[in-house]
Amino acid sequence: MENHLPAVVDRFLRYVQIDTQSDPSSDSVPSTEKQKNLAHLLVQELIALGIQDAMMDEYGYVYASIPTPEDTPATPVLGLLAHMDTSPDESGKDVHPIIHRNYDGKKITLPGDPSVVLDPVTQPALLDHIGHDLITSDGTTLLGSDDKAGVAILMQLAEDLLQDPGHSRPQIRLCFTIDEEIGRGVDHLDLKKFGADIAYTIDGSGMGTVFTETFNAVQATVTVQGVMVHPGYAKGVMANSVRILSEIIASLPTHEAPEHTDEREGYIHPHTFSRSNASKAQSTLILRDFTQEGMESKISYLRSLVQFFRVKYPKSSIEIDFKEQYRNMRSYIEEKDPRTVTLAHRAADSMGIQLEERVIRGGTDGARLSELGIPTPNIFNGGHDYHSKFEWNTVQNLSSSLDYLKHLVYQWGDEIAS
Ligand SMILES: [Zn+2]
Repeated sequence: MENHLPAVVDRFLRYVQIDTQSDPSSDSVPSTEKQKNLAHLLVQELIALGIQDAMMDEYGYVYASIPTPEDTPATPVLGLLAHMDTSPDESGKDVHPIIHRNYDGKKITLPGDPSVVLDPVTQPALLDHIGHDLITSDGTTLLGSDDKAGVAILMQLAEDLLQDPGHSRPQIRLCFTIDEEIGRGVDHLDLKKFGADIAYTIDGSGMGTVFTETFNAVQATVTVQGVMVHPGYAKGVMANSVRILSEIIASLPTHEAPEHTDEREGYIHPHTFSRSNASKAQSTLILRDFTQEGMESKISYLRSLVQFFRVKYPKSSIEIDFKEQYRNMRSYIEEKDPRTVTLAHRAADSMGIQLEERVIRGGTDGARLSELGIPTPNIFNGGHDYHSKFEWNTVQNLSSSLDYLKHLVYQWGDEIAS
């Protein structure tokens, strides 16, 4: 049976067995040297495919071009990215992938650890995959579909496009990144070397999803300056900063907190209360909202809250400052090249599938790249339940994700040829 697997699955099964776990406590680049083991292999395989410019840089990033026919327009250059590292949340050492043929919709107990049971009750997406050939780990590690699925899909895309010169396509730059799971995926990415005008990360969970939005992000700093005197003689004089700041924090709306919001709901999240004493106290809060209006109303709410406490405690001084951290990546996409989204839809339409636009409640490499001037939506790679021993993908999802990406490349080819 195994030798009848699609080539993309074959690649996937090989790549997940290479341990590339990143490490947030490490200061080196890459955070773990072992990420370069996969990087070296990818470079070798790309060169074997005839991609002469494939190379790994000193940090472990892999860059490569997929050769195009002579008459291909020079721009736009389409960048495609996947990250090589796996999450620090679960071990990625000695991954033993298992294929469960023709899934029947029931629970699956993984043989390496009987306590790891894939269960459609807690993992309802499983029920959309009855009849699929499920791929899991043996239960002792994560699977590493996040993002070896993206890596395998891009490698197979390179091989398949080289064997299919019939379709017009854009110039393509591949980039395999390091340390995405610890938030450093773009830190040492060389934008010149990458050379892309537009890009996609192949790092989204599920099928038929494109992630095009992140939060607008603002940080607020509240500083309370009190009046300090000896506590024994403080009556009618002291204004205690710790008490006043605690009262401000306690009066924040509890329903607009990260622990009570999801999907498109924003929040206000007090996340530090530092270097504080009765004389001076300070807290930072992060504000998140997908819309600009929502963000503005959170800011004006905090301003009026602070004003209320200024009136209540006239002897103290209370300041609030706001600093923009990042903007919803959607605004950069709209500014730079909204075709990254419209062509993603057109590719889905051409295959007769529905593409669902989703939001990301956190930062991503694509958001950073979008901000740096390369609009980068995130495309699905078929996997589910990332960062855990319950992670899975399917033979069919990997094949369909690859197929979708080809359609997307051809859409861009038609777009720039017309
Ligand atoms: Zn990922």
